[in-house]
Amino acid sequence: MLPKAVQKVIEQFGKLPGVGQKTAERLAFYLLKQHPQKLEDFGVSVKNLRQNLLFCEVCHNLSETNRCIICQNQKRDPSVLCVVEEVLDIMAFEKTGEFNGLYHVLQGVISPVNGVGPQDLTIDSLKERIENENISEIILATNPTIEGEATALYISKVLQPFDIKMTRIARGLPTGSDLEYADRLTLSRSLQGRQEY
Ligand code: ZN
Repeated sequence: MLPKAVQKVIEQFGKLPGVGQKTAERLAFYLLKQHPQKLEDFGVSVKNLRQNLLFCEVCHNLSETNRCIICQNQKRDPSVLCVVEEVLDIMAFEKTGEFNGLYHVLQGVISPVNGVGPQDLTIDSLKERIENENISEIILATNPTIEGEATALYISKVLQPFDIKMTRIARGLPTGSDLEYADRLTLSRSLQGRQEY
């Protein structure tokens, strides 16, 4: 019924997480009404999304340089590491303004159902950091989901020989939820209320 070009855009939007058919249609028709230059800009930014993007060689955050801005920041406390699942979780913690340490991005969680094992995450690199850097506390800030908990437990076992303080963010967060969606206050409370793991 619709011209192919419109159908294609609807199809692409429909593939995005959390976007259903109706929303995809609405977005496509919204774009249709925009000025051609705006559409051009939109397309170009999507096209260039992956250009000049790296993962930080230290913490695996997204970065434009070998070391991300957080790892390069001399004012941050390098003795505390907050271990998160995804880059988006860093953004969530940064928005709270509560955390002044460094991060480590696992790039996922252990999930046998999805075929993701510990070797697929950046756990080896985390171990190396603990061996080589002067770290006194690890905050396990994986999501409060079954997989997030299992991953935190796994990491705590792997790191046990290092005799390092390990904490887990507090349970103010709704179980099964994603950190990136938690509001600032809840997240900063969960950080303040973290407990020895
Ligand atoms: Zn970094």
